[in-house]
Amino acid sequence: MFTMRRHRKKSVRAAADRVDAALDTVALPDPWQIGDYVDAVAAQRGRPIMLHAMPLRASTGLCGLWLALPDRDVIVHETSTVDEHQEVIICHELAHMLLEHTSDTSLTAAELAHQVTGVDMEVVRARGHSNFDRIEELEAELFARKLIARVRDTHDGAPREGKIRRILDSF
Ligand SMILES: [Zn+2]
Repeated sequence: MFTMRRHRKKSVRAAADRVDAALDTVALPDPWQIGDYVDAVAAQRGRPIMLHAMPLRASTGLCGLWLALPDRDVIVHETSTVDEHQEVIICHELAHMLLEHTSDTSLTAAELAHQVTGVDMEVVRARGHSNFDRIEELEAELFARKLIARVRDTHDGAPREGKIRRILDSF
C-alpha cells in the first residue's frame, strides 16, 4: 500500500543516515587490514573483540554470530567462503556493535550459540544468508557493504554501489 510503502522508504532513509554516521566514527586503517579495523572498533568500545573462524554454515546455516561475553565480544564467522565475503560477515557483526543494536534473544539463536560454542551465553546477533527483513539487519548489512565499498574505492577507485542499491531496493 502507498502509505506503508512511503513509511518504509522513510525508515530506510533514516537507517542509511544512521549507518553513515556510524561509519564515520571509526577511521579506515591504511593500508586496509580487517584485523586492524576490528582493533579500532574494539578500542573505540573499550572492549576486546576476538575473531573465531569455523565452518559455521554447515552446522547452523548461519555465516556470522556476535557473542557478548562479560569481558569481550566474539565474532564467529564462516570459514568456507572467499576472504572478501568473510570481511563482509565480520563488518556486519561490527555494525551491530557500533549501532548499539539490542540482543537477539530468540531461542533459536541461543540454541545455535550453545551448539557452536558449547557454552551458555547471551547471543547478540546471528547473521543468515539474506535475512535482512528487520531494520537492524538491514542497517548492519548496509554498514558492511558501504564499508567494503569505501575500502575498495580507496584502493582502486571502482565504486561498488550496485549491491548496496539492491539491498535497499529489496527492503
Ligand atoms: Zn545481523
